[in-house]
Amino acid sequence: MSEVKDFIVIGDKKIRLKDFPTKPDESTDKEKTLKKMNENLTKMEDYQDKLYSEGDEGLVLIFQAMDAAGKDSTIKNVMRGLNPQGIDVHSFKAPSSEELSHGFLWRAEKRFPPRGKIAIFNRSYYEDVLVSRVHKLYLNIRMPDRCKRGNVISRRYQDINNFEDYQYNNGYRIVKFFLNVSKDEQKRRFLERIDLKIKNWKFSASDVKERGYWDEYMEAYEDAINATASKNSPWYVLPADKKWYTRYLVTEAVIDVFKKIKPKYPTLPDEEQERLQKDKEILLNEK
Ligand code: ATP
Ligand code: MG
Repeated sequence: MSEVKDFIVIGDKKIRLKDFPTKPDESTDKEKTLKKMNENLTKMEDYQDKLYSEGDEGLVLIFQAMDAAGKDSTIKNVMRGLNPQGIDVHSFKAPSSEELSHGFLWRAEKRFPPRGKIAIFNRSYYEDVLVSRVHKLYLNIRMPDRCKRGNVISRRYQDINNFEDYQYNNGYRIVKFFLNVSKDEQKRRFLERIDLKIKNWKFSASDVKERGYWDEYMEAYEDAINATASKNSPWYVLPADKKWYTRYLVTEAVIDVFKKIKPKYPTLPDEEQERLQKDKEILLNEK
């Protein structure tokens, strides 16, 4: 059975997406996996409580994927293991005109949580090297020509690496997930969204059109992952054809990053401890 470390990319060697599976291997037992996931959700709650009380590090979980790969439901599942007070979820949609009149990282920087909290990004600044690359959207932005000449996307990779280093140097950890769904499974899910009335709302007009650019997107993902994976801000290329498996692997990856953070409850200085004891006496002596 595979483990989450089989899917991590840290930039030590170039990866090819087609070498990564989209399904769990044969030996993976669904019942056991679900059980382990539930245990992980309990562990996550404990870690998060410590992270929050300590307030030293912030955590940002980024979810990127093709449509219908299961970003929403995976995020919903991860949230089950976290206290809503310590977490912010943000979906990055097509940028507004205000956002477009700033550098591409501006809107993401504003969504970084205060240290001690967790942010989940449903899409992110990676869209600016994915959809922007596939449709050359950067050509439509009002910017001087020098910003549109040469390899705009390569410069953005550099900007992202610098930005992620900057965040790391300021107490943040960023973990990036690519939910790797197969083209066949995407088709199956699209058809289900069309056939099932309660799922109709999930289907958008652009979904089939974007599917037509599948190969371009895969190339864009592969290049972006290779250019921006690092030890401190790794990518995980997770099989996404079976949602229960993806969700489990995400909890494993989240626990791994918590293990690196090692959050602990702050201990009070001696004089505060003494004060607590005095307050205890007052409470116990109350009539
Ligand atoms: P679902 O997977 O459930 O359809 P979604 O994340 O696709 O959810 P939508 O509202 O359908 O949500 O789509 C958001 C759209 O915004 C996507 O098509 C995405 O490519 C686009 N988008 C996000 N960031 C940018 C960006 N920086 N530039 C251009 N388009 C962007
Ligand atoms: Mg969509």
